[in-house]
Amino acid sequence: MTTPIATDDATWAPFRAEFHLPPDQIYLDGNSLGLLSRRAEAAVQTVLRDWATHGIGGWSEGGWIDLAERTAADLVPLLGASPQAIALTAQTTLNLHQLLATLFDPAHPTRRVILADPINFASDAHAIESHLRLRGLDPASHLRWIRSTDGRTLETADIVAAFTPDVQLAILPGVLYVSGQLLDLPAINAAARERGVLIGWDLSHSIGAVPHHLETEGADFAFWCTYKYLNAGPGAIGGLFLHPRHHERPPGLAGWWGVDPVHRFTLDLAHRPAPGASRLHVGTPPILSLAPLAGSLELFPLVGGIAALRARSLALTTHLLARCDDTLAALGVTIATPRDPAARGGQVALVHPAAGRLCPALRAAGVVPDYRHPDVLRLAPSPFYNTFADVDAAIDRLAEILRSQSYLDWPDPTTAAP
Ligand SMILES: *Cc1c(COP(=O)(O)O)cnc(C)c1O
Repeated sequence: MTTPIATDDATWAPFRAEFHLPPDQIYLDGNSLGLLSRRAEAAVQTVLRDWATHGIGGWSEGGWIDLAERTAADLVPLLGASPQAIALTAQTTLNLHQLLATLFDPAHPTRRVILADPINFASDAHAIESHLRLRGLDPASHLRWIRSTDGRTLETADIVAAFTPDVQLAILPGVLYVSGQLLDLPAINAAARERGVLIGWDLSHSIGAVPHHLETEGADFAFWCTYKYLNAGPGAIGGLFLHPRHHERPPGLAGWWGVDPVHRFTLDLAHRPAPGASRLHVGTPPILSLAPLAGSLELFPLVGGIAALRARSLALTTHLLARCDDTLAALGVTIATPRDPAARGGQVALVHPAAGRLCPALRAAGVVPDYRHPDVLRLAPSPFYNTFADVDAAIDRLAEILRSQSYLDWPDPTTAAP
């Protein structure tokens, strides 16, 4: 066992120095697009050099042939999954399509409902609805929403109560993208297993931010993007987890890269699936979008792993919440993120009716947040490259903007013509 490293800025200064920090910006938007690390940059340059030097020989000389599998192995400690249960392929939403195509049985005699929540990132709902239609089912009767009483968070009891005998499969976000609520994955996974519901997780906002134990908890599947807390770059490769209990299933969407590597290059017309989650690959892995992920993931063990990142992330967001209370509350800002550290991910969601104007005003003041319609400003201090001083400066500048009402100089996006 290694001792977790401290959470202070001085201890983390060498890791901050591993990143390209945009000049004159306090970047608090790593939950939308994490920053470029020197290791990710170097990994891309290595691929380009191998391509230049070896041409097609890069598949062997550059190690591209199994880069997806080797990089998936680096995610083992972040996901709590065995390497064979992880595949790096395609994109978040496409991976959800692939998992539905592989796991959902539209002809099940009693269970034909898919359960989801209405406050998750809309792309998942688009995928589920189109998948149901493709399988001959009507989303109006086969997609069921879990209620959210406040429109920002979900209650474990409401989720569990929705696991009724007609539900076949449920899809939930690990961390809700607007409020930053971290759901109780252990309890929800256990309840789903107990009630015979297949449970799948969109981990886009939680992978790299909080530790996961997917396999021991018995989650059936998961999928995620790598450009938020994993810092792999715009549109970088997506990932998926398929529990070993499903490893004998044929892929719903089959392609030659999902064929067992032993047979792949014989190009037989019979599809003989690769072992494990790798069977859910479809086409040639996009090496240029895998390489930056491989480079970025080198940093995780160096800082002491996901436990150390989580500890520093919580220290930063706890400080941020305290500063909201002491400085912003009196200026009309409320908090949508749960206070309980066990119930929040890596971001804090501030609520203010003028959030859409506060966002550009804050950017002009050198702080990069993001805005979610209609009234949320999200701040995500990255444990890798943000500091407590960044948090203080962001809150002080936001307070100044609110006091001076300088945000009124920006157009109001909630009333702007479409
Ligand atoms: C960012 C995000 C996505 C992104 O989907 P892509 O297919 O990668 O564009 C999906 N789901 C959630 C919850 C996200 O936060």
